[in-house]
Amino acid sequence: MKIIEGGRGKPWLSRLSLRFPTSSRTMPLGFAAPTERKPVIAYVGLGANLGEPEKQLTEALARLAAAEEVEVLKVSGFYRNPPLGPPGQPWFVNAVAKVRTRLSPEELLRVLKNIEQAMGRVTRERWGPREIDLDLLLYNGEVLSGPDLTVPHPEMQHRGFVLVPLAEIAPLAWHPVLKKTAAELEAMLPPRERECLEKLT
Ligand code: ADP
Ligand code: MG
Repeated sequence: MKIIEGGRGKPWLSRLSLRFPTSSRTMPLGFAAPTERKPVIAYVGLGANLGEPEKQLTEALARLAAAEEVEVLKVSGFYRNPPLGPPGQPWFVNAVAKVRTRLSPEELLRVLKNIEQAMGRVTRERWGPREIDLDLLLYNGEVLSGPDLTVPHPEMQHRGFVLVPLAEIAPLAWHPVLKKTAAELEAMLPPRERECLEKLT
């Protein structure tokens, strides 16, 4: 393994500069290589509403499963639901995947962003239409807040399209800030957040 000096006062920046996927990965000094870390469980939310959303979700899951140091353990059903944000957008399809990974949360986010890019996601307005959106919902019961990454995902407790598929595959997944399980959070949703979802698979 090649080790380089990283940081320059912003350790999170050097961690994000890891190159994936590659065999000649460079690691900033002071961080364990993924293979030296214990695998942990994380949950990833997937969504798409442009092109062929179901196909894109399936492709994103295949890419996630093919990523180094990431195993997809479970995938929820696909749920169709009306879009947030600007009116007149096509409906979304959403799902949640349970993964086991040795990657740090920042490395996992980088993998998710790389998949979005590889699949041609174009940067548009916030909450606007998208080819694919991959969010890190929960990571090993940890609480993280940085300039580029907040875990648990700050909106997850309000969203039926996150909590319904999450509770389907992991009712006991723990929200370390709200101190509730996915099933408990799902039960607290306003009924319309659940009722508007249509399960496709
Ligand atoms: P959206 O909020 O609609 O999902 P984006 O997917 O464009 O918007 O994400 C915007 C930024 O949110 C990303 O560049 C990423 O750095 C940041 N972000 C912070 N926390 C998370 C998280 N838990 N999962 C995914 N992205 C996150
Ligand atoms: Mg996102």
